[in-house]
Order: sequence, then C-alpha cells, then structure tokens
Amino acid sequence: MVRSLCVFPTKHAALQNCLTLCPQQTETVRRRVSAGYAPGRREKIELSADSGCGTAKLVSAKLSGPVESIPDAAEEQIVSHSQTLPSHTPVLIVGAGPTGLSLAIELVRRNVECLLIDRNPAPLPFDRATVIHSRSLECFETMGTIDEFLARGHIMRGFNIFAFGKKIAQTSFESLECRHPYDLNLAENETEDILTARLESLGGRVSRGWSLEGLNQTDTEVTATLKSAEGVETTVTADWLVGTDGIHSRVRESIGVAVAGHQYPARWGVVDGYLPDWQHEPDRAAIQIDAPALNPVPMPGMRWRIYFRVFDETQIDDLLEQIDSGLASISPGTRLQDPDQPMLYHTFRQLSAHYRSSRVLLAGDAAHACSPIEGHGMNTGIQDSFNLGWKLAHVIKGQAGDGLLNSYELERRPIANAVGASGDIAEELRTIPDEPAAVERVKRALCAMLLPARGQLQAAEAETEISFHYRDSPLVRGYHAAGAAAQQNWLGPRPGDCLPEAGPLSHPQTDTTLTLFDLLRSTGHLLLWLATDEIEAPNAADLASVLQPGDTCVIISTTPPEKLEQTDSTQAKWLIDETGSVHAKLGIIDPTLFLIRPDGHIALRCEPPQLEQITAYYQILQT
Ligand SMILES: Cc1cc2nc3c(=O)[nH]c(=O)nc-3n(C[C@H](O)[C@H](O)[C@H](O)COP(=O)(O)OP(=O)(O)OC[C@H]3O[C@@H](n4cnc5c(N)ncnc54)[C@H](O)[C@@H]3O)c2cc1C
Repeated sequence: MVRSLCVFPTKHAALQNCLTLCPQQTETVRRRVSAGYAPGRREKIELSADSGCGTAKLVSAKLSGPVESIPDAAEEQIVSHSQTLPSHTPVLIVGAGPTGLSLAIELVRRNVECLLIDRNPAPLPFDRATVIHSRSLECFETMGTIDEFLARGHIMRGFNIFAFGKKIAQTSFESLECRHPYDLNLAENETEDILTARLESLGGRVSRGWSLEGLNQTDTEVTATLKSAEGVETTVTADWLVGTDGIHSRVRESIGVAVAGHQYPARWGVVDGYLPDWQHEPDRAAIQIDAPALNPVPMPGMRWRIYFRVFDETQIDDLLEQIDSGLASISPGTRLQDPDQPMLYHTFRQLSAHYRSSRVLLAGDAAHACSPIEGHGMNTGIQDSFNLGWKLAHVIKGQAGDGLLNSYELERRPIANAVGASGDIAEELRTIPDEPAAVERVKRALCAMLLPARGQLQAAEAETEISFHYRDSPLVRGYHAAGAAAQQNWLGPRPGDCLPEAGPLSHPQTDTTLTLFDLLRSTGHLLLWLATDEIEAPNAADLASVLQPGDTCVIISTTPPEKLEQTDSTQAKWLIDETGSVHAKLGIIDPTLFLIRPDGHIALRCEPPQLEQITAYYQILQT
C-alpha cells in the first residue's frame, strides 16, 4: 500500500516533467492517467503538450495503455534506485534515451564505471524515432546486441518516390557494400528496451526517477545536484559528466553553452495503422511529393507509420480522410485501417556552439537536433556515443590525455551540422506549394538526382550514414614513404573513413571464415597488417612494444596457408585473403598497415608498414 502511494505520484511527476504541461493540461493528464492505472483498464489518452523528449513539439498524442508498459518490477526499482546513488562516480550520464544508453554500454564494456540517471521513473511509452540506419546497426553489432535488433525490427530495403500518382524514382540500399545494406525500422521505446537489456547484461543499469537540477565544476570534478521524483535532493560528484538529456538539455543550460537554430514553418504529423491493400513492396518506404505530402514507412507486425505534412492548419479535423486520399493516389483502393490518433509536431534544427565545457560534454539531442524527416536524430546521437565512449574510457584509464576529448566535438559537430543542413533541404522540398508546376519542378530535380546509378548510390549512402567520415580530424594520420602527394593516389579507404566490409578471410588453423567487420569486436584498437606476395610480418616483441592493452593485431596475406611456416610468425592472428577481395577493397598494391580505432574508423594508413607511425599516433592521444 505504501509503495503504491509513493510510486503513483512518481509516475505522474515524470509524465509532467517530460511533457511540460500547463495547469489545465496537467489536470487532464492526471485524471486520464489515473483512470489508466485502474486495474484491468486500458484506455486511450489524448495529451496536448510540449514534448521535451525529442526534436519535435508533440501537440496531440494518444497513449494506449501506459499502465501495461510500466511493470511492477520497474516500480520496485524506482524506490530502491532513489536510495542507492553513489556519492562519486567516474562518469555521470544524465538522460537514458538512446544516446545515454549507448554511451553507458560503451563505457561498461570497457570496465569503466558510470552512473546513468533519468528523471523518468519508467521508459517513455511514446513512439518517436523509427528508422535505424546501417551505420548505427554496425555500432550495435560491435556493442554486442545486433541479434536482438534484427529479431525485433523490420528491414527496409529502400524507398520509392511518387508524383501525380506515379512512381518516378527509387533508391535501393541493397547495392551498398556494407555489413547491413538496409535500414531497420523499430519503435524508439523498443530500441531503448534492447539497449537497456544489453547494459544490464554487462552489469550496468539505469537509475530512474532522478533529475539533474544543476551542476558546478572545478578543474578536477563536477558536482551535480540531483532531485528524486519524491523531492529528495542529493549531490553526486563525478570526474566527467555527459549531458544526454535531450533537446531541452538542463546540462547544456547549466554550462551556458549557446544553441542556435530555427523552427520549421509547417507541422508534420504521424499516424500508425495497417495498409492491407498496399500495392508496393512491403519493405520500402514511399515518399509522395505532391499534396497531401506523405511518407508511409513499414514497421514490424505488418503495421505502417505514415508521416504527413500539414499544409492547411484549418483542416486538421479530417486528417485521416486527407491521408486516405493521399494513399489512394499512390495505391488505388488503399485505406489506413485501425489507425491510432494522429500526432502533430513542430520540428526544429538546432546546434550547440560547443560539445565540451571542461569536464562536461554534450551528446545526442542535447547537442544537436534536426528535422525528423530523414530519420537522423537518434542515429546521430547513438553514433556520438560510439565516438565518445572509447575516448572517455581511454582518458579515464590513463591511456590518453584529456585533449583526446576535444576531437569528439571536432569529429561529430560537422556531422550534426551536415545532417541539419540536409534536413533543411528535405523540409524545403516538402513545403512546395500544391500546384502542378511546383510539383513538376521538384519531380524533375529528384529524377535528375536519382535516375543515374551514381546518384542513387550517393542517396543510399547518405541515408544509411555509412559514408560519414572523420578525414579532417587532427586525430587521423596518413603516411606514404613516397610523400604526401602519393597519398592522393591511394585506392580504397583513407584515414578517417570507416573500415569497409569485405571478405571472405579464412583462418588456416581453424578452417573458419570471417569478414573484415568480424574483426571489430575488441574494445581497443585493431592493427591490420596487409601483406602482399611476400610474407612481411612484424615480430611479436616489436608489436608488443607499440600496442596498448586491449589492442589486437591481425595479419592478412594472400599467400596460401602451407607457406606460412616460412615466416617469423608472431602472436598475431593470421588470416588468408584467398580471393584477394579484402586487398582489393582496401586498395592494397604494396604492403600496408592500417590502425583501426575502437569505433571502426581508420586512425592510420601507413605504406609501407612502419611501427613507429603507430607510436606517433599514440603520442597524439597523450596530448
Ligand atoms: C516524430 C519523431 C520521429 C523521429 N524519427 C526519427 C527516426 O526515424 N530516426 C532517428 O534517428 N531519429 C528520429 N527522431 C529523433 C529522435 O527521436 C531523437 O533524436 C532521439 O530521441 C534523441 O535521443 P537522445 O537520447 O539524445 O534524447 P532523448 O531520447 O530525448 O532522451 C533524453 C532523456 O533524458 C532524460 N532527461 C531529460 N532531462 C533530464 C534531467 N534534467 N535529469 C535527468 N534526466 C533527464 C529524459 O527523460 C530522456 O529519457 C524522431 C523524432 C520525432 C519527434
């Protein structure tokens, strides 16, 4: 009994926090949520509120059965977690959305302790992000949780573009040479669920029901003031604090980092339902450019999520009819079945002036926001964490100086800016007037871009985020014995690029086959030594003298296994590229060394291999 008295207001307070309601709205929610919590009752609740949980303003939403989504076990956790915060932690992560969870996994995977708090006593029941891009799937694979994502998500292989009722162009992800040549569609709360389970399997957890109220920092630590949902205040000190607390970030506000951006003029709406008579591929999204502009996106369980543009604010009472009319123009006879309540969103582009202020860092929506139209917001946050996690772990373990953390902003902020700019263009294209001439202009522009194979490939690469690189980072290096000009003629990936997928590679002793991506499992750096026709290999002692704890080394040769005993073999793993496809993909003509960072990006490409170049790279990390 005592528990229910203390827990129910906690849940209510969390909803209030996250929705920033006015008093009348709060009362509406209180009554409806109370009704929702009645035993055995499941009802639809409409909210009108600002959402503090994403890049958009949630104006009207339906909550279906929030009671069932907050199990008793979570209630128990709320109480116990409020009592068990440590007074000090190496890293305090504020906000357990996809960004904060990914960062916690990256730290805990490297045996770095962290405290991950969230003001909500239970995960949000709302659906926000849908599309998980290929690059994020690669990150999840390295984090050790790809199988769960593939089991629960819906694979999307591309999209079709329609104008005047006809398909005018398409983009396919299948032609991409990458580990996961598709997008995976899954509700964001399920993504959070999988990441939480992974964190817990590694021994971490989310401390829910704690809100960051403010912080102070000195040269040596950060002191955070936290408040429990029951109103209990406490302080926690941390060596580092990372704000992953979303678009209205309290962390960002507390460190006085400015944020610039704009709101998009027209609202977007979202509604889920079934499309039983859909006449196009079930694994492709559709983009309709003429009014009513809409994008049906396939979801797990045969459901579809329809994103639509609100052209006329005076016509929002018959949204479902407008959607049906748009659907019918690209798939005659199709109507949305069993729809839920449409939600309308104001959308924003935002970018923080800095991602770091001394011992405090920002990631995810706290650092940047973009139009949800291209589905990049959550993905960018996950990849922020994948970039920051290993760096923070290196600094905490003394394997790098804290200057390494400056490269996080230098590498990630330009990507957030590019994604934001791309969202601006997409928004502009989607706000064309409802006139045939205007639609025709957009149609021609899209066809000019997407009909050539190269344009299609570029669009697919941009959508799936596999072409994002850090070539301009001060942290990545190239070396060619013939001088810097020779690097311009390198075939294959350059320093800063992601290690591409290629294979097969066979293991002569175990008779197993692998691909390049399979080698990205360790938490440290990976040294790839690409031998050519002769066996040129480093000896074990030399390798040990340049590598760091946690690093691995793999030698890849095209030489058949029977010749291997001629070599001064090392403790490194030997793999054979019998078909030569890995050498071809990496553009290897002469022996070359690649040092791959823990986030899969190329730190160093060095031709011919020189171990002192690795030492020089690690010296940069020490600054
Ligand atoms: C309709 C819509 C569709 C979208 N579709 C996509 C898509 O398909 N793909 C995509 O990549 N992105 C999409 N996005 C964007 C995506 O939802 C966000 O980018 C993503 O949620 C950001 O994750 P985050 O972890 O950075 O922040 P959030 O998910 O906002 O998480 C922040 C967390 O911090 C907590 N918090 C806040 N303040 C405090 C505090 N003071 N103390 C403690 N905890 C706090 C919150 O409770 C929350 O749990 C979409 C957004 C919307 C609105």
